[in-house]
Formats: sequence, C-alpha cells, structure tokens
Amino acid sequence: MRKIGVLTSGGDAPGMNAAVRAVVRCGIARGMEVYGIHRGYEGLIEGAIKEMDMSSVGDILHRGGTILRTARSERFRTEEGQKHAINVLSAFGIEGIVVIGGDGSMRGGLELSQRGITIMGLPGTIDNDLGYTDYTIGFDTAVNTVLSAVTNIRDTSSSHERATIVEVMGRHCGDIALYAGLTGGADNILVPEMPFDINQVCKKIIQGKNRGKLHDIIMKAEGVEIDVQELAQLIEDKTGKETRVVILAYLQRGGSPTARDRMLASQMAKKAVELLYNDEESKAIGICGGEITAYDLETALTIKRPFNTDLYELADVLSR
Ligand code: ATP
Repeated sequence: MRKIGVLTSGGDAPGMNAAVRAVVRCGIARGMEVYGIHRGYEGLIEGAIKEMDMSSVGDILHRGGTILRTARSERFRTEEGQKHAINVLSAFGIEGIVVIGGDGSMRGGLELSQRGITIMGLPGTIDNDLGYTDYTIGFDTAVNTVLSAVTNIRDTSSSHERATIVEVMGRHCGDIALYAGLTGGADNILVPEMPFDINQVCKKIIQGKNRGKLHDIIMKAEGVEIDVQELAQLIEDKTGKETRVVILAYLQRGGSPTARDRMLASQMAKKAVELLYNDEESKAIGICGGEITAYDLETALTIKRPFNTDLYELADVLSR
C-alpha cells in the first residue's frame, strides 16, 4: 500500500496529535504518501483531504485536541454517505486509513472496511471504554487532569469541612472515576459498573467525620444514573454535612498529553502504518499487558470491557 489517509473522529482526546504526527512520519519513512482527512467522516464525504509532509506535523506533539479537527457525522451513518466516502477515497487513490477515535469511529471504520478500504483503528478517547485494549489514548491525561482538580478541591473541602462530589466523564465506563478516585484518595467512588448504596456512602462520610476527617471527596462517574444535585441533597440530609458539586465536564478533554499518552499514540501509530505497508487486513490496535496488539477490527468491537474490581476494592480499603 502506498497511499494512506489519517483522520480523527468523535470526541477529541489528548494524544491524537501525537498519533497523527507518528502516522505521517512513519508513513513517509516507508516511502508512502500520507493524506490528512479533516473533520473526521464528515470531511471525508466532503473531500477535505490534503497531503501531509514532515513539517505539517511539526510542533504538535505537546498539543491537546487534534489539528485535523474532529466531527460527529450523521451523513456517514447512511449508505449513501458511505458510498460517497468510498468514491472520494478512490478519486485520491487512498487504499487504507488510520482512524483515530472511540467506539463509534471504529464502527464507522468497519463499514468502510466492508466496502474494501483497509482500516487501522487507533483507540483515541479519554473514556477508556474499549474492551479490546487496556488503555486508550487520552485516558492517562484525563485522569491526571482530574487528579490535579481534586487536589485543589480537597484544600477547600478541608478548610470548610465540606463534602464535595466531583462528577467526571467516561460515558458508561467508570475508569476515569476509578483511577482518579484511587490516586486522588477519594472517600467514595461511584461507577456505573458497580451498584451503590446511599446509606453506605453516608455511613463512610459520618465515620470519617468521627475520626477527625475534614474533607470528603465523592468521585462520581457521569454514567451513574442519579442526578448529581439530587445526590448532594441526599448526602446533606443524611449526614448533616454541607455538600457541594463540581462537574469537571470538558475541562477533562483538553490539555497537553502526558508522556504515557504520547508514547501510546506513537507506538500504536507505528504499528498501524507497518500493518498498512504490509497490506494486512483491517485491525484495531491496542495495548495489553504492556504489549502493542492488533486484533481483527470486527472481533475487537465485540469484546466487552472488563471492570477492574481489584482496584475498586483497593480504593475502598485505602479510604476507610
Ligand atoms: P467518543 O468515545 O469520544 O465519543 P466515538 O468515536 O465513540 O468517540 P461517536 O460520536 O460515537 O464517537 O462516533 C463518531 C462518528 O463515527 C459518528 O459521528 C459517525 O459518523 C461514525 N459512526 C459511529 N457509529 C457508526 C456506525 N455504527 N456506523 C457508521 N458510522 C458510525
């Protein structure tokens, strides 16, 4: 394969730029032509495609977001949109694409793959919600962003002897809450994968107060189906402790990627280019037990995300 494309799709994630840079530079090093497809599948349909060179990805490694921009495309979900995308790709002579995005972007890639384009999917999402890989690009940065926010919130929470609920992203996956909760010393972690008992949460808060604890951080994943303000009111009513809410929202999506996310992005992109160069079939690139992996794309998307109950229990023991 000599002509390849790269696009970013779905929500932006820190490290997407590191991945784009590595796709372009590894591709050029192998003598390939690399085309940047702007604004995800929407841009693909519109033909927003430009050849990239070494300098077009200069000075982006440390930047959050994506220089290729990203989009959610309704048109691409239709057969007509997908046929149009194929025609655009054939006009450019592009035979393979590195798709950097979350679960939906990979599913979009699978549609193209079934129409004859080779797709290498790179997991680019802060949510860490793809079952076939231990980590996604952007997750580590998001966890560190939440951690730094929790460190600040804890100061105020202690000074005023308040409880604070910190609501974090992750859609149906509780990993951001779990990792930032454990490393940030949260007293309670609420994730969609585990049922929670409001009485247990409140008991822990009261026990903490009785042993002289000043602050209480409750880390709540957005996927837990209870309104966060309602939860605050319940806690206040049951514990008598003033309870505030901080919703971190998009603050978690931006920012300079951590070393770990840059490394992950660079290694996964190298693998994707290598596979395209060798004319391999469509794959989803991941990391398992520290090794870069490549699963068949369709199979990868059927793998359910396991929840790390060991970490969940450890976080509970450490915060009693
Ligand atoms: P994030 O995890 O950050 O939300 P994502 O990749 O899961 O990222 P989605 O909005 O689900 O984000 O998907 C991105 C785009 O991929 C959609 O706007 C759509 O164009 C395409 N897409 C998603 N699912 C499908 C599908 N089943 N078939 C075709 N295209 C799809």
